[in-house]
Formats: sequence, structure tokens, C-alpha cells
Amino acid sequence: MTVLVLNSGSSSIKFQLVDPVAGTAVASGLVEQIGESGSGIADHAEGMQRAYQMLDDSGADLAAVQAVGHRVVHGGQRFYQPTLITDETLAEIERLSALAPLHNPANAIGIKVARKDFPAVPHVAVFDTGFFHSLPDAAATYAIDRTVAAEHGIRRYGFHGTSHEYVSGRVAEVLGRPLSELNTIVLHLGNGASASAVRGGVAVETSMGLTPLEGLVMGTRSGDIDPGVLMHLRRAAGMEVEQIDELLNRRSGLKGLCGVNDFRELRALIEDGAEGSVAAQLAYDVYIHRLRKYVGAYLAVLGRVDAIAFTAGVGENAASVREDALAGLDRLGIAVDPQRNRADSRDARVISAATSPITVLVVPTNEELAIARAAWRFV
Ligand code: ADP
Repeated sequence: MTVLVLNSGSSSIKFQLVDPVAGTAVASGLVEQIGESGSGIADHAEGMQRAYQMLDDSGADLAAVQAVGHRVVHGGQRFYQPTLITDETLAEIERLSALAPLHNPANAIGIKVARKDFPAVPHVAVFDTGFFHSLPDAAATYAIDRTVAAEHGIRRYGFHGTSHEYVSGRVAEVLGRPLSELNTIVLHLGNGASASAVRGGVAVETSMGLTPLEGLVMGTRSGDIDPGVLMHLRRAAGMEVEQIDELLNRRSGLKGLCGVNDFRELRALIEDGAEGSVAAQLAYDVYIHRLRKYVGAYLAVLGRVDAIAFTAGVGENAASVREDALAGLDRLGIAVDPQRNRADSRDARVISAATSPITVLVVPTNEELAIARAAWRFV
């Protein structure tokens, strides 16, 4: 018995077949370049056929699929729990595209195709915004005209919620303490990056807002920026809204600062010392500075912090980021142990010194497992 977990993007489908009881991935893969000329994959329906073929080739049994879990980016104000997909909920997910124009339409297409292919099993939507439904109003509200905000659904929603929820839960397991007693800062550092403050298992603050553009410096996204910059680009540079959108989402962050968005390439640029290493070093410094700022802010938001957890591609793998972001914070109760931090391990582990009042951890995220378990509850 397995759950098929789908993350359908505009030109890609990420899939994983999960055994929700054992908690293991049976098979996984990625179909890319959907709809791109020369790829031979005209649309998502064909992309899914490709995915089934890949699963079949790996020896997986598609007849054993008992549920399909769909990652959906935006749940708006209405959806925050894992939700059984019906014609009506699907229509609502499509209506929420105004809030997530890049993501929800692609998620909806994936759902439609998979419902046709697996008509007899429950399909469950798990929302990236869901975990942050609990944000207090003071954290979720932008200080703008409230009638304008209400009319257009403008508030802070937060994203990567499945990961933040999973990782904060894992922290409690690893530390052997009740989740309800733990205050944790989770730093999800992947291509996209976000921070959250979690009090007793409930999210009270997060760095992403109306869209996944706010907050930390990311691979290609700017994160926090003075909104005045947007008006300036419009007026002084004559840029159109679409161009500004593209600039901030795709040509900013690490990529904008030094030309590469992958941390391994960034490190190589810095170490090679040639042309480009100055820009790469600055990109790294800006990234670390922003991260430290958020850690400091969330220490204040939570008041008492028990744990700080790093997760996702950069957070799990880049020891220097963990070390540099938290360096010199002993007076705030944070002491990373250099040796533990550099240990070569794939497991969830503590990397702070035994004497550190705040425990620092590396916790591999597993959004697919979290989605599979959520979907499994509907079987
Ligand atoms: P996504 O947000 O796309 O799910 P991931 O969480 O997989 O991203 O993170 C991808 C990023 O992780 C890569 O762009 C790269 O910068 C970083 N990364 C992956 N492996 C390593 C590594 N061994 N060392 C440093 N950074 C890494």
C-alpha cells in the first residue's frame, strides 16, 4: 500500500511513491521540460504518463496506490488542513490563482490529470500555507489601508509550511521532549528559503508573506526589499510590472548578486579567488547577514528559544552557512560546535555544544512523507 505524492509545477512534475506506514520512499523521480519545444512532452497529461513509466520501470506497483497527495502552494484563507479534493475544492484552488499565479494553476492541472488516472482513490491537497494559518494577527497583518487589504486578501500567508511543521515536530522527537513545550526557530534554506518561529507546535511568525518573495535572500529571489524600490524601478527605469516581477523573482537573490544561485557554485566562485569572487563573497555576506537578522528577530518574538533547526538543501548541507549565521551569539545562548557541525551525516542531529542553552540541529526535511501521511488519513 502506497501513497503517490505529486508536486506539479508549470513545466515539471516531481513525484514520489511513499509507504506512509514505514515512512519510506518506494520510488521517486522528476519529469521536466513539460510543454517545452523539443522535449517530446506536450503537456502535463503526457508528463504524468512519463512519470508512471518511470515508476513502472523501477518496479513500483501503481495498482497499490491507495491515495494521491498533492502539494498545493496557496490555500488562501479557506484551506489550511489537508483537504479532500472534490470538483468544488478544485474550483476553489483554481480561484486562488490570483494569489499564486505561478503555482496554483500548475498544481490544479496536476490534480486534474491525476484524478483521471486514479479515479478510485482519495486525492488530498496539502497546502504550503496551511501551517501558518495560526499566525497571530499582529504577525499576519501588513500595515496598509485595511479596506484595501481586506478587499484583495492582502496579508501574510507564509509558505513551506509542510516543511516547517514536519521539522519542528522532528525536533521534539530528536530531543525527546513534548512538542507542546518547545519553542523552535526553523530555517528552511533551499532554493527558496524561509524562517519560522514555532511555539509549542504552533507557528507564530514566518518570513514569507503574501507571496514567497518576502524574507530571506534566496537562490533567485530578493527576499525583503523596500517597496519603494518597485516604484522607483517603474518611474526611473520605466520597467513594467511583469519585468519587475521577473527581476525580483528570477534575477535577484544570490543569482542577481553574483550570477549563480547554487551554493556549491557560489563556494567554488569564492574559493577560486578570480574575477567574480568579490561579487560571490558579497552575495554570501548578504545572505548570512539577512539570516542572522531573522534569527535575532525570532529570538525576540519567542522570548525563550529551545532549539534552532536548519533544513533543506543549503541548511542540511552547507556547514559554513550554519556556522557563520550563528557565529558569535554565545551571549544569546547559541554555541555551535564546529566539529559536530562539520560531521558527515545524513541524519537529524544536534550540532551545538553540550553547554549551549539553545540546541542547534540539522534536521532533513521530508515534505513528501508529511504529504503522504496527511493523504493516508483519508484512506
Ligand atoms: P528546493 O527549494 O528546490 O526544494 P532544495 O531544498 O533541494 O531546493 O535545495 C537546493 C539547493 O541546496 C541548491 O540550489 C544548492 O544551493 C543547495 N545544496 C544542495 N546540496 C548542497 C551541498 N552539498 N552543499 C551546499 N549546498 C547544497
